[in-house]
Amino acid sequence: MKYDFNDPSITVALVGAGGFIGSHLLEAILERTQWRIFAVDLDFHKVQQHLQNHRIEFLCEDLEEPSVLKKISSYPIVIQLAAICTPSRYNTETQKVIESNFLTPAALAKACADSGSWLLYFSTSEVYGKTSSEALLLEEDQSDFVYGSIHASRWSYAIAKQLSERYIASLVHLSWTIFRPFNFIGPRMDFVSGLDGEGIPRVLASFCGALVKNEAMKLVDGGKAQRSFTSIHDAIRFIFLVLEKPHLSKQEVFNIGNPDNEISIRELSFLIQKIHAEITHKNPKEYKSPIEVSGTNYYGKGYEDSLRRVPSIQKSQKLLGYLPTEPLEKTLKESVLWFIDHYTPIIENQETQR
Ligand code: NAD
Ligand code: UDP
Repeated sequence: MKYDFNDPSITVALVGAGGFIGSHLLEAILERTQWRIFAVDLDFHKVQQHLQNHRIEFLCEDLEEPSVLKKISSYPIVIQLAAICTPSRYNTETQKVIESNFLTPAALAKACADSGSWLLYFSTSEVYGKTSSEALLLEEDQSDFVYGSIHASRWSYAIAKQLSERYIASLVHLSWTIFRPFNFIGPRMDFVSGLDGEGIPRVLASFCGALVKNEAMKLVDGGKAQRSFTSIHDAIRFIFLVLEKPHLSKQEVFNIGNPDNEISIRELSFLIQKIHAEITHKNPKEYKSPIEVSGTNYYGKGYEDSLRRVPSIQKSQKLLGYLPTEPLEKTLKESVLWFIDHYTPIIENQETQR
């Protein structure tokens, strides 16, 4: 079955539409298709400029409500993004993280199997687990998964996602596609602590937040871990290829990543600061030096890290003809600029109110 992008009778359920990926996907669906959107989230502030759009029905409710799952699964395409997915919560809110990344998606998958919807499920590159610095390219259908002990509660998220993948794949009547994102980055990612959220966001928002607040960036365990960062624009392009080619992408798991954008977190901190200085013309000497912190002190007991995570993109290239094109520095420039533009007025406003 094909889904015509120009068919206005198609409604896609976008679950987690108010989040980082969801907000970009919502805009891309509006721009590139004639589809209607059933948007579900607990918070829509990132898409507030679309609240009056007549092609979108917004539902601000918790996914844990059975009636919400029933409504979502009444649509032919369900894109499931909603989850707790910030590492700082994995070892501090373990039960909630497991419920959010296994119990709720499993219930939604069951509802989709019953109704005949195609479920596009966002898992994570973290399912590959506790990879070492020597780790090879991670392949969807070949690589093994290694997790830490039960006390290393950091892995709660990875294990819950992995179990939800297996549960989805076990449902014989379900049409599904699973995505494993590798550190997507771009504007609107997460929050800045003390400005529009509390706690520790993922690394891009953490570093950009520190720079806009003129604070020191924190390098966990010296910033030796490496990640392969993926532009949100490349990610959205990939999701559209999948939507365009259901006959090739149903019952498949895909990495979404860019192996060319691998960098250590320490190098990332230097690069982000360099870009920030170029944009703001701030004297490099005025920056606070990054501070090294241990993972346990920064995230709490039970934190462990994955030292290297590079995606193989052979499968998506072979099946769908996909290749990411956005270099790291370009995406970082766009992101740093967005963090400056978005948060500077909020900081100035806070200062005048003091
Ligand atoms: P996000 O936190 O920005 O968005 C998730 C959204 O889900 C939020 O807006 C949140 O309010 C909503 N949500 C959470 N629980 C909900 C509930 N019970 N009911 C209704 N809404 C709820 O995260 P994101 O970066 O957009 O990630 C989306 C998905 O992709 C997640 O499932 C995540 O595990 C996966 N993922 C993302 C990345 C990445 O690089 N961004 C990497 C790996 C996996
Ligand atoms: N990290 C860091 N400082 C921060 C936030 C994160 O050094 O302020 C590190 C973190 O320990 C990990 C990497 O950056 O090694 C990526 O963290 P993130 O939370 O973005 O996501 P992950 O890839 O671990 O899921």
